[in-house]
Amino acid sequence: MKRIVILGGGESGAGSAILAQAKGFDVFLSDSGVLQDKYKQELSGKNILFEEKGHTESLILSADEIIKSPGIPEEAPLIVAAKSKNIPIISEIEFAGRYTDAKKICITGSNGKTTTTSLIYHILKSAGLNVGLGGNIGQSFARQVAANNYDYYVLELSSFQLDNMYDFKADIAILLNITPDHLDRYDHDMQKYIDAKMRIVRNQTLADAFIYWGEDPIVTKEVVKLQPKATLYSFTEFKKEGVAGYSDNHKLYIRTPKSVFEMEQDLLALTGTHNLYNSLAAGITAKLLDITDEKLRLSLSDFKGVEHRLEKVASVKGIQFVNDSKATNVNSCWYALKSMKSKVVLILGGKDKGNDYTEIEELVMSKVHALVFLGVDNSKLHKFFDGKVTEIEDAGSMEEAVNKAYKLANDGDAVLLSPCCASFDLFKSYEDRGDQFKFWVRKL
Ligand code: ADP
Repeated sequence: MKRIVILGGGESGAGSAILAQAKGFDVFLSDSGVLQDKYKQELSGKNILFEEKGHTESLILSADEIIKSPGIPEEAPLIVAAKSKNIPIISEIEFAGRYTDAKKICITGSNGKTTTTSLIYHILKSAGLNVGLGGNIGQSFARQVAANNYDYYVLELSSFQLDNMYDFKADIAILLNITPDHLDRYDHDMQKYIDAKMRIVRNQTLADAFIYWGEDPIVTKEVVKLQPKATLYSFTEFKKEGVAGYSDNHKLYIRTPKSVFEMEQDLLALTGTHNLYNSLAAGITAKLLDITDEKLRLSLSDFKGVEHRLEKVASVKGIQFVNDSKATNVNSCWYALKSMKSKVVLILGGKDKGNDYTEIEELVMSKVHALVFLGVDNSKLHKFFDGKVTEIEDAGSMEEAVNKAYKLANDGDAVLLSPCCASFDLFKSYEDRGDQFKFWVRKL
């Protein structure tokens, strides 16, 4: 009996174990950390062998195939040892992909993955398709393949997942953008990160679709270099020869060989240029899947958005509070500021990731009238912004930040939490940071 070893016991590992057992393999799961109780119960209940708090090498290196969690780096000693024994190492997505004939719509990019994946899922589900949502979001793909019989899957894929995919094929692949990210996992070599992202087009044929942002300098260069075999569809902010999605005169257009779709841009649920791109990518996907114009228009306008991404929290005495806690880099804050229609009091700061604030300087000068720095160490922010914005306050907690921002805000302003930084100096996660923001706003 073929022996499958799963490294990492999070949602993707647990899902893989369940699917592997259902397919009749001899399964063993190993995690160097502690498994969540719910996974322990689930694995024990199904008599799936597992270990935690360490790896037993002999049990792992006897595998015929290893399914590796995306969190484990390629240089981990165990992975190196497995490779030297020629044991194939694959991702959960590669594994689960073997056991479903469903159409797979796969979304990757440095920014916008979760938003676009959720939007496409919303459109397909609202249109009545039998569709599952997976990858980096919610339930693992493997778990769903074991339990359901969906006709379509919408999958959010990170570069780490793409790294260990070989035979998997996306029927519709979407590449939103490529900007530097996670370089610590790619030997600080940008090309290695780019190559991982471009794996999304692997194995595609003319019958498949590759949808990408036609203005991204890196992506467009790679498309010329790699000449993907899929049928290409690009989207741009404004109309350009040959593009499938664009905006023109306050309208969004989707052109496919079969149809032309148009919609007033003001009716889109998601605002801002970055979200126009996300809506265009989702719209092209929907039209390729023959969703009717009427249904697509409705879904693009009634989508509720994703928590912590430009999320409108409340309006207090004419001041709008917006939670963009997921903006953990300068680029996403740039898009958030660009999308704001009013003057802004901006709350930013946290754990610096080598940020260069020059990128948002112009937008801060034109739109922001007060800054609140929320972090353990705000010295870098002061060095950059002091003298450029008249009102600047420091805050050591979310409560203080929200109260100070509220006092600084004028009637009609927005208070925007778009931190440019990781959250770990004061919060457990970006979700915790966003939740605390909402809590204190609601207390006002
Ligand atoms: P990801 O899943 O790739 O991290 P999210 O959808 O969670 O992306 O959004 C992360 C951040 O990036 C948010 O602050 C959001 O406002 C911003 N963002 C969303 N879509 C885009 C895009 N297409 N280009 C640039 N930034 C984006």
